[in-house]
Amino acid sequence: MLYSLIAHINILTKDFGKKINMALKIQKKHLELIKAYGVESYPNECCGFLLGKPNNGDKEVLSTFPSVNAREEREKYHRFLITSDAYLQCEKFAKVKNLDIIGFYHSHPNAETNPSAYDVEYGWPWYSYVIVSIANNKALEVTSWILQNDRSKFKQEKIILI
Ligand SMILES: [Zn+2]
Repeated sequence: MLYSLIAHINILTKDFGKKINMALKIQKKHLELIKAYGVESYPNECCGFLLGKPNNGDKEVLSTFPSVNAREEREKYHRFLITSDAYLQCEKFAKVKNLDIIGFYHSHPNAETNPSAYDVEYGWPWYSYVIVSIANNKALEVTSWILQNDRSKFKQEKIILI
């Protein structure tokens, strides 16, 4: 009885530990690509997919897949839209590569990397949302976020360069 209780506590601690240690692992080359997409689209927002494999609560980015920002021209400086067509295309690409869609990236031109109210409204839980801030054609900070299950707000996740 005592043993099973301890075992149970260990499992809980282990699971809890995993949750608080969730991180996005990414190679520098993929991070640099995301920054480059942000600079290329500046002063508009870029957007695209993160592909990889979820692993014990962490996710590892193994590829990126850029998408067209389908928002109307005058809104693109602070909004992005990925169409269902783009999503399907990316799913096909991911299948061929034997990868999963694990998140999305987009840029914040002339703004910090905190997710906007728009990001919260349109975000999906579980996925990683990488945001790069761009100013004067230069990539500044890159952060990653996960929308909480109740969809109330994003929580920042650690980015680990591998
Ligand atoms: Zn945003």
